[in-house]
Amino acid sequence: MPHNARAMTTSDRYARQRLFAPFGGKAQEKLGAARVTLVGCGALGTHLAQHLVRAGVGRLRICDRDFVELHNLQRQVLFDEQDVRDNLPKAAAAAAKLARVNSEVAVEPRIVDVNPSNVESLIADADLVLDGTDNFETRFLLNDACLKRRKPWVYGGCVGADGMVLAVIPGTTACFRCFVPDAPEPGSVATCDTAGVLGPAVGVVASLQAAEALKLLTGHADALAEGLVTVDVWGNRQHVFKMARVPECPACGKGRYDFLEGGASGAATTLCGRNAVQIRPAAEAAIDLPALERRLAAVGPVKRNEYLLRLDAEGFEITVFPDGRAIVRGTDDPARARAVYAKFVGA
Ligand SMILES: [Zn+2]
Repeated sequence: MPHNARAMTTSDRYARQRLFAPFGGKAQEKLGAARVTLVGCGALGTHLAQHLVRAGVGRLRICDRDFVELHNLQRQVLFDEQDVRDNLPKAAAAAAKLARVNSEVAVEPRIVDVNPSNVESLIADADLVLDGTDNFETRFLLNDACLKRRKPWVYGGCVGADGMVLAVIPGTTACFRCFVPDAPEPGSVATCDTAGVLGPAVGVVASLQAAEALKLLTGHADALAEGLVTVDVWGNRQHVFKMARVPECPACGKGRYDFLEGGASGAATTLCGRNAVQIRPAAEAAIDLPALERRLAAVGPVKRNEYLLRLDAEGFEITVFPDGRAIVRGTDDPARARAVYAKFVGA
């Protein structure tokens, strides 16, 4: 039969996956009914999203606060040069690509900063949460929210050629704070900005995360790694460090959700290695981007699409989102960025 004479069916799409023994029986159906929230759609996040959508997850909510830039393309596999030219938010660009990969999956892009005020609603209906973030603050927040809501989640981190993966099942396994009790001092740990990151390392770490996710979503939690997986793709090493719950852990041991309840997240956040600061207004605003565009036309070059507005002025690049959030590039000083925001967008 010529290949184009046969209608494409779901069983064709997942045929190779179903042949894998643990995916026999009801695994594919379980996956197809599963809802996942992905937080962060950069290096790890694009790989994770692609794995989950190609494998046939039921619904994927993609949360990301940023837009696509040229230096992302080295490792963020869902994006291309046109996305950079179009100033597309990562969540929207990823959703557009994924719709062409597997139209059977409900992909829900959310252009948001995940913070204590919205994290619980973003994960409330999810069966699993995936970490595609690049900072400790958001990971501690995810850990708190997932423990409180009893949602399993899979941490992943990658710097240089090294990476780590940990699947957390609330009440059963060690949590992220059992492993990292408190946020490291700024500047004390290597980041992608100081140590760089290799695309293949990202791919390996995200694939390990995705494999843990598929185990959790198909009822194979018994196959999860028994602790923290570390990998070094340059030195060719992989190891699993067994981890037990820590009774004195502030989060899973004592039930304190410091990052969820403490309002630890400020209104101005320096973005890792970007020479940029995110400004979040105290109360969510509804900004009329076309009106703002008209007002700023005399200030400097303004570009706008359906998701954001960008102004170049006084050596800063200011990107404004409809909810009032902005990313100010050209400084890593929160006070300076807040002043720029107040001047051009309004307090
Ligand atoms: Zn813990």
